Amino acid sequence: MSLCSCHSGRSASECCEPILAGARAGSPLALMRSRYTAFVTENAEYLKRSWHPDYCPDTLEFAADTQWTQLLILDHGEDGNSGHVHFIARFREGTEWFELEEKSRFEKIDDDWKYLAGNTDFRPLSPGRNDACPCGSGRKWKKCCG
Ligand SMILES: [Zn+2]
Ligand SMILES: [Zn+2]
Repeated sequence: MSLCSCHSGRSASECCEPILAGARAGSPLALMRSRYTAFVTENAEYLKRSWHPDYCPDTLEFAADTQWTQLLILDHGEDGNSGHVHFIARFREGTEWFELEEKSRFEKIDDDWKYLAGNTDFRPLSPGRNDACPCGSGRKWKKCCG
């Protein structure tokens, strides 16, 4: 099986793949994961389709050398037709590491979750020697990518 690009540890066919193919995301978290996968696979068409039309930008750009390595879900939930996900995504550009922390907001329209917008914070990562490697291997930084 091929593992899903959202780092869920599940196979793609049981995770984001059906949603990208048109199935409804059953929760804000499932939609957020599918959009993360779309960022990793540079699927602009899906990103636009899953974005609330009032918030969706006209053009989307992907940084060519960004390598997404880890997704950490800190909090998520839904209340009626509104939902939220708080997450950290880690990525590398060449030898430099960064993380993006976002509190995303979602709205359910016609029983279908859409992404509205989020408060996003970017920061460089400088792991300590004994910290968990941001590549998601589970190994220490000094024994992995450090
Ligand atoms: Zn997935
Ligand atoms: Zn590593």
